[in-house]
Amino acid sequence: MRFSLLLGTLLVLAKTFAQTSPLEIKKLSGNFYVYTTYNDFEGTPFPSNSMYLVTDSGVVMIDTPWDESQTLPLLDSIEKRHHLPVKICIVTHFHDDRTAGLNVLKKQGIKTYSSLLSFQKGKEDGSELAEFQFTKDTTFTFGGVKFETFYPGEGHTPDNIVVWFPKSKILYGGCFVKSIEAKGLGNVADANITNWPIAIKKTIKKFKSPRFVIPGHQNWLGKNALMHTLYLLEISYNEK
Ligand SMILES: [Zn+2]
Repeated sequence: MRFSLLLGTLLVLAKTFAQTSPLEIKKLSGNFYVYTTYNDFEGTPFPSNSMYLVTDSGVVMIDTPWDESQTLPLLDSIEKRHHLPVKICIVTHFHDDRTAGLNVLKKQGIKTYSSLLSFQKGKEDGSELAEFQFTKDTTFTFGGVKFETFYPGEGHTPDNIVVWFPKSKILYGGCFVKSIEAKGLGNVADANITNWPIAIKKTIKKFKSPRFVIPGHQNWLGKNALMHTLYLLEISYNEK
């Protein structure tokens, strides 16, 4: 009797672990990978997406794992898989699902970047901070790959930026963009609900026909995440 109870418990535990691996890395396209970690949101494990890009000169990370215990495992997995170290990391707003583990990255000699506004907001909030700041939309060229940061205006947070990879037409939206799977706006503690739709429209206009739009959380395969975000914002407006 006791044995079967123990076996049952073990099976339940095995099932739980099988459902959410603490770090998932999936190929997006070419040299782009999306990685997902989990953290507690209102009592249940909730997924958070970030991305990395492999170049001849090393790996570029966009945002950090939300689950900080996965920062070093991520760096190890990248090194094992691609035989290249992470060289730079750009974070897209000050919340901990984008910035947790920045101090670990800095200790590893990885160059970390954010906007000056994210740095200031993060400092007020007590978040981990990037070492270097940019004061306006900035084009980076790393390992022969060009990518640009864009500040669309206040939305999910006052400082949220997106990152555009023009050659591969990948738009990394972060938490400014909601997944097609999302049924609500999520954490709106620092959001500007009035300006968010305006900022989304600006982004749609600026980045024509992206091949992929990566949201901060949940399913990232849908291309219509920007339109879906607009829809969710309209519903929330009408509900008021
Ligand atoms: Zn988020």
